[in-house]
Amino acid sequence: MQWEVVIGLEIHAQLATKSKIFSGASTAYGAEPNTQACAVDLGLPGVLPVLNKEAVTMAAKFGLAIGAEVSRRSVFARKNYFYPDLPKGYQISQMELPIVGRGELEIELEDGSTKMVGVTRAHLEEDAGKSLHGDFHGKTGIDLNRAGTPLLEIVSEPDMRSAKEAVAYMKKIHSLVRYLEICDGNMQEGSFRCDANVSVRPQGQKELSPRTELKNINSFRFVEKAINIEVERQIDVIEAGGKIAQETRLYDADKNETRSMRSKEEANDYRYFPDPDLLPVVIEEDFLNAVKATLPELPDQKKHRYMDSFGLSPYDAGVLTSDRALAEYFEVVLDTAGGEAKLSANWVAGELTGALNKTDVELADSPVSAVKLGGLVARIADNTISGKIAKEVFQAMWQGEGDADAVIEAKGLKQITDASAIEPIIDEVISNNPGQLAQYRSGKDKLFGFFVGQVMKASRGKANPQQVNELLKKKLDG
Ligand code: ADP
Ligand code: MG
Repeated sequence: MQWEVVIGLEIHAQLATKSKIFSGASTAYGAEPNTQACAVDLGLPGVLPVLNKEAVTMAAKFGLAIGAEVSRRSVFARKNYFYPDLPKGYQISQMELPIVGRGELEIELEDGSTKMVGVTRAHLEEDAGKSLHGDFHGKTGIDLNRAGTPLLEIVSEPDMRSAKEAVAYMKKIHSLVRYLEICDGNMQEGSFRCDANVSVRPQGQKELSPRTELKNINSFRFVEKAINIEVERQIDVIEAGGKIAQETRLYDADKNETRSMRSKEEANDYRYFPDPDLLPVVIEEDFLNAVKATLPELPDQKKHRYMDSFGLSPYDAGVLTSDRALAEYFEVVLDTAGGEAKLSANWVAGELTGALNKTDVELADSPVSAVKLGGLVARIADNTISGKIAKEVFQAMWQGEGDADAVIEAKGLKQITDASAIEPIIDEVISNNPGQLAQYRSGKDKLFGFFVGQVMKASRGKANPQQVNELLKKKLDG
């Protein structure tokens, strides 16, 4: 039996407002427990929520960016449930009339192809507090600093067909909210997290199968692992003659397994009803136009501009534009290097990104600035050094040994492009290897590579490879 995997994601993005969605308390992360929860966040009797306009602006920005309808009228509802970190006994959310309606996004897959994924809706809601299980022996602590922090919940259509697609979608949303500057995207601090809904159905079946929901996964790597392990589990259950129960499961990263938490609640379990303390949110045309005017160039627009005006592949363009700061860095490199797009792209996405990842350094703190890297790319482009030597120069620049020209000068790495300097090296290599010469001349063409290697080695990598090839060919054949 061939199984088709079906995945829909619910992403919670914490909006980067200074104060909470219905109160004036600060949203800053990391304060002492319960120092940033005011009477409204605590749900004390007699208080009234007041909507933070900035949260509405940010949600509208997101809606416009995914080509969705931003509702002219949306309504806050109470979602009732009982939990110690929810002092009011209900969460203010949106149910029937969310602020953002249907939109879509393009995702890039590793094989270079792209796919459209539908966004069903996005709605505003408040976050709950946090239960601290480790801090007090035998007791649970409650920190309400997070209570009332604005969230945008972004619900996708069940359009993803693999864990990889789900990760690509999650990365795309992550990149978008950071471009829009509506969420800092910090997954460790919980500002960006996701629930994954997973089901499997026989290949060709139209109806969706019952799904499970994997809660609160806070890294791209765990999303992929959690989905894959859950898919395996579901297939095993079904193939053994069992049925998948609609339920909420928890992913345990240490054991790499999912565990049942509770059976899935239905909307009516929450007794949703419009919050009588809040007026419907009415959005005027002028407001929307003003928000539209603040939209930056979006990742996809940038990507297509890079493809069209720089001739970059969709993959390269996608990598460079996934992060706004990386794209800005690339454009400075390109400018300094004088329009070497492909070469600049390779160096930014390859050597630079590799070095940053390896040393766990943020782009903003890179020891090699964009102007410096541009200077290096320019020296490759004008044949002062080969790509191979350039890696050596890059390492020296990374260690703080100055810009490309200074390093090339200090280490004597300038490429030899003068034929009269290369020829004697070739002559010497040929006379040192009479055996290989005889074999080559009797038809063993493969030995050409051997000679190129010897010449490059003898020149300590500095001979211009193209010239070595040409001159060597002449001499060997001559
Ligand atoms: P709820 O509000 O109960 O969580 P929704 O119908 O709003 O349920 O769906 C939540 C998410 O689950 C959406 O992202 C949706 O695409 C996804 N989803 C719904 N049905 C399935 C299914 N059978 N398999 C996988 N994902 C699904
Ligand atoms: Mg859900």
